[in-house]
Amino acid sequence: MKNNLIYTIKRIKQKCFQKLASHFLLYPKRKHCNICNWSGKVFLNDNWHKGVICPRCESTVRHRLFKAAIDQSDNKELYYCLKNKKVLHCAPDKCLKDFIKIQSKIYKTGDLLRRDCDIKVDLCSMKNINDSTFDVLIIFDILEHVENVQNALKEIHRVLTGNGYAIFTVPQKDGLKITIEGDDNLSPEERNNRFGQWDHLRLFGSDFTNMLKKNRFDVIEMSEKNFSSDIVKKFSLKPLTKSKDPLATNERKIFFCKKVF
Ligand SMILES: [Zn+2]
Repeated sequence: MKNNLIYTIKRIKQKCFQKLASHFLLYPKRKHCNICNWSGKVFLNDNWHKGVICPRCESTVRHRLFKAAIDQSDNKELYYCLKNKKVLHCAPDKCLKDFIKIQSKIYKTGDLLRRDCDIKVDLCSMKNINDSTFDVLIIFDILEHVENVQNALKEIHRVLTGNGYAIFTVPQKDGLKITIEGDDNLSPEERNNRFGQWDHLRLFGSDFTNMLKKNRFDVIEMSEKNFSSDIVKKFSLKPLTKSKDPLATNERKIFFCKKVF
């Protein structure tokens, strides 16, 4: 109860600060949010990085990278991947909802605990969703929370239609090759120290791509490297400076994963 109150007060303060910042940082127009069209001097800092959060819509690097991958890459398959599709947006970030909804034919939101979503979704066991139900599942920064990644990937594959897409982001430590996982007995403090957040159960390495391929997905990875330096700078598709924290994810990737058999 006390923690909830502290969180609510912190959130209200943050919102007020962002609202002020979105007005007072309007000039010069060096940065542009490709999601809400805010333009201004600089994006705001988060706990890990400088210059990453849009003061108007709270989009961060992964959201703007996802939008740029669909809007501005040369890959036409990505351009059409949401259009007129049946989409399930899991643990939906508010800043992306409208963009995805407008493109979709049917748009549903899902979450394990939140009451503001359409469907209760436990990625490891989606018994309430039939096989081949959705054309697209959007799963941003959730797999580090689930009990068993293999079960989740199997379930995601099952509920997707043929050639459907699962679109993922995960926290990935710089230079880490093999994903590190802890057993269930780790305390929140130990998880924070090992994985960077008290409720994370793992920290992904570069082996995540192979994990996806082994679970019958064709993978297209999009990062800031796929865009010109002008676009990267304008939309802040990477932090202003790399965090020196050994657990930080400094390069964000969007994994567009097509279901194959
Ligand atoms: Zn924005």
